[in-house]
Amino acid sequence: DSRVPYSTATIKQSKGYKGHDMLAPFTAGWQTTETEPLVIEKSEGSYVYDVNGKKYLDALAGLWCTILGGNEPRLVAAATAQLNTLPFYHSFWNRSTKPSLDLAKELLEIFTARKMAKVFFTNGGSDANDTQVKLVWYYNNALGRPNKKKIIARAKSYHGSTLIAASLSGLPALHQQFDLPAPFVLHTDCPHYWRFHLPGETEEDYSTRLANNLESLILREGPETIGAFIAEPVMGAGGVILPPNTYFEKIQAVLKKYDILFIADEVICGFGRLGTMFGCDKYNIKPDLVTVAKALSSAYLPIAAVYVSPEVAEVVYSQSNKLGTFSHGFTYSGHPVSCAVAIEVLKIFKERNLLQQVNNISPMFQDGLKAFSDSPIIGEIRGTGLVLGTEFTDNKSPNDPFPPEWGKFLPTFWIGSYFGAQCVKHGMFVRVSGDNVAMAPPFILSPQEVDEIISIYGKALKDTEERVQELKSQHK
Ligand code: PLP
Repeated sequence: DSRVPYSTATIKQSKGYKGHDMLAPFTAGWQTTETEPLVIEKSEGSYVYDVNGKKYLDALAGLWCTILGGNEPRLVAAATAQLNTLPFYHSFWNRSTKPSLDLAKELLEIFTARKMAKVFFTNGGSDANDTQVKLVWYYNNALGRPNKKKIIARAKSYHGSTLIAASLSGLPALHQQFDLPAPFVLHTDCPHYWRFHLPGETEEDYSTRLANNLESLILREGPETIGAFIAEPVMGAGGVILPPNTYFEKIQAVLKKYDILFIADEVICGFGRLGTMFGCDKYNIKPDLVTVAKALSSAYLPIAAVYVSPEVAEVVYSQSNKLGTFSHGFTYSGHPVSCAVAIEVLKIFKERNLLQQVNNISPMFQDGLKAFSDSPIIGEIRGTGLVLGTEFTDNKSPNDPFPPEWGKFLPTFWIGSYFGAQCVKHGMFVRVSGDNVAMAPPFILSPQEVDEIISIYGKALKDTEERVQELKSQHK
């Protein structure tokens, strides 16, 4: 199969699902019609199994989310108990359920970067970020500032794929052909020091330049028109991009000056991924609004939450009193079964001291993989805690991507996909985005499993280096 680099063509039998009936998320048409889907059937600890019984180390924890791995019986028991008691009731009109009220209380207790006042539940990260924008608008309308509505996000960020969340995201693929971004969304710099710093510029100088650029954008648009700034503490899907030194300090000073709210998107970073409970703890961020999802239920059931600061909550409450109601919410906001599972995740988190576990295992994970930085096809390996990104590039330079046309079949960069396919071949899942490959394994990872990750990564890298050599000699 000449498309091997991009496909799951190592999978020869998907048990009749070739050309399946799903319009699959983030999948090209030809992938469905011409290749076999990789069908996952079962999970166990840090591993998943496909329908042919092949075992894969899930070095992405599903989609950065199954922190407790594939078969945690206590989560199954918590869900079952709740299903047997009250499978569903809503939280509209001041009716609610015990699990949703208890989870809100617990969430407020564990967020300590600053005091938060309230929690609003949604189904996933995208609708949580849509909720954030609606809160910012509602808040500014209530304060008599109807023009303060624009939201500043960053290039390369990922905030989800609903209309607003996709607009906030700074990835062109999410905008093209969807008539996005919406006009009220502006994008400022991606804070990727390695890729974008000027010759001789220190991380601190680079952060100053980005904060100055942000301020210029605000002044150009008019501070009275900017409602909020949204950022992931560490960018995930955009390529595991860590903030340079002093970045958030300088950005926050600018936002404060112009009375602009800070929305921290902790969908990936929240609940220990970076070795601190939240990304806000690690980078001293004092947010007004925070989005969490994914690890909150270890992804066993869909749930996300929005934290609201006392200042915003107070304004929202007084405005809703005037209007008669706060007219926003979803049927499944605070779904009792999802909430029961999330409560159990947080219990396990404390009992097993998972934060300590992340900090115990992450040096082995980070150092073991960063040892591959010398590879001639890798520009940068970066990460912290249990998240790591590899940027493939030629000549160790951010300006020398491997020629996209070497990929032949997709109008995109191919080397990440090639490496990802080699990982699949050797029995491991990573996340490919262009020339970048991300890893974010479950927190239950054992030292032996870290060794296995390093070993498979090494094999896939060797295969990819050989392929690059082959292509270079062909294209001489
Ligand atoms: N925000 C961030 C930082 C994410 O990584 C994601 C998903 O990966 C989202 C938001 C969207 O979440 P969901 O896919 O649950 O809608």
